[in-house]
Amino acid sequence: MAKMSWTAGTQCVAKGDHRKAKPGELAYHKGDIFTIVDISTRKGFYKARHNTTGNEGLINSTSVREREALRVNPSLSLMPWFHGKISGPEAVSKLQPAEDGLFLVRESIRHPGDYVLCVSVSGAVVHYRVIYQDKQLTIDNTQFFYNLIDMIEFYSKYKGSIATTLLKPRPKQGAKSAELELSKSGWLLDIAKLTLGENIGEGEFGAVHEGEYMGQKVAVKTIKCDVTAQAFLQETAVMTKLQHKNLVRLLGVIPHKGLHIVTELMSKGNLVNFLRTRGRSVVTYAQLLHFALDVCEGMEYLESKKLVHRDLAARNVLVSDDSVAKVSDFGLTKLDSKVSDNIKLPVKWTAPEALKKEKFSTKSDVWSYGVLLWEIFSYGRLPYPKMSLKEVKERVEGGYRMEAPEDCPPGVYSLMTICWEQEPRRRPAFHKLREKLERVMGTHSPGPGSERRDGIQSGSGC
Ligand code: ADP
Repeated sequence: MAKMSWTAGTQCVAKGDHRKAKPGELAYHKGDIFTIVDISTRKGFYKARHNTTGNEGLINSTSVREREALRVNPSLSLMPWFHGKISGPEAVSKLQPAEDGLFLVRESIRHPGDYVLCVSVSGAVVHYRVIYQDKQLTIDNTQFFYNLIDMIEFYSKYKGSIATTLLKPRPKQGAKSAELELSKSGWLLDIAKLTLGENIGEGEFGAVHEGEYMGQKVAVKTIKCDVTAQAFLQETAVMTKLQHKNLVRLLGVIPHKGLHIVTELMSKGNLVNFLRTRGRSVVTYAQLLHFALDVCEGMEYLESKKLVHRDLAARNVLVSDDSVAKVSDFGLTKLDSKVSDNIKLPVKWTAPEALKKEKFSTKSDVWSYGVLLWEIFSYGRLPYPKMSLKEVKERVEGGYRMEAPEDCPPGVYSLMTICWEQEPRRRPAFHKLREKLERVMGTHSPGPGSERRDGIQSGSGC
């Protein structure tokens, strides 16, 4: 049935091929993703933009379905075939009825640290010991793998020295295959369509490469460690729910050699480097204010979704080709406000109540936003220059606050100071901050060249 309620920005997935498009219509293949641009005067049709080719045209709403957010679900697994510590006989019973290529992986009880690949073949179950040595896994001392995901991927394609290729995983009870769920919801991308290019960044958990996916420039974060990849799956699930012009957009994921997270390419890199490498002679105040507003709007959206970022800092803001700042790195984003795990906190950006009592909230994000404003107006300096983390903790608790960066407009500094109210309740919400910032922008007289969105003064060569 045609759904007439899609608003502009809704993401849709094609249910089948549409090769013979009539004039004005979009042609597409099964699985292609579109963004709704507008409703159309033609009944049951929408004007849409193809996410990868950028072409615009009409699509019939009965031929596409809305791309659903992936549910954040701890049972969503990149390794549904991993059963943990079960015995050999238990593994055999789980691989019944026998079927060639049916398999699971268990942890070895006799050899802690090793695994066992159990495969059904010709009515029997063969147990292959997977030895962990020198940070690699091997069955036959010929093929080596960095993690179980790689190993299963390999033996699903090639028989190698085992009796059969792996054909069908036996999922652990309750585990949901991430691949299947991603595919059903429209977030699974095809590795064959991805070309990886130059390395453009090094994250804490994996390298970031520039790439191309069906003609579109993308950024690809590759997470090789299976355990980390599993944790990032949850980050990705959060990202599937979020769509805003000031949040780095997730395009999809590929569970291949760990996890490939594909996002829009932010060609000007992170905001700290952007500001440091250009400096005050190149970037105008008007541009700095635009960056501040961009981030504020992204955060206002997160606030409206009751999501807390927890790691807002200029290093986690990226700049697009047309110089729009977008918030990225949702690694710590959570719906709830308590951290139970012992994560390392970015002390210089974290509000006192979050540091002391692990009380994270939108208001602790507002504190971080104040620090980010300081970073922006100091052109990427490290906050609390020359102070150790211990000193920062103690002095901030005692009421110390950073001074205004050099030549910072007073209106902007007063925004920073209200973000740094000791009492979270007294800090403004992001929607209030946005209004205040817009007022500051209204009173700030733009400098030469600042009417350009990229704010770069002419002759800079950037
Ligand atoms: P971390 O894991 O340390 O938070 P990320 O893995 O998100 O950092 O990114 C590391 C670096 O890679 C960023 O600082 C940035 O320079 C680059 N990067 C990340 N994502 C993108 C992107 N979508 N477009 C362009 N560069 C990116």
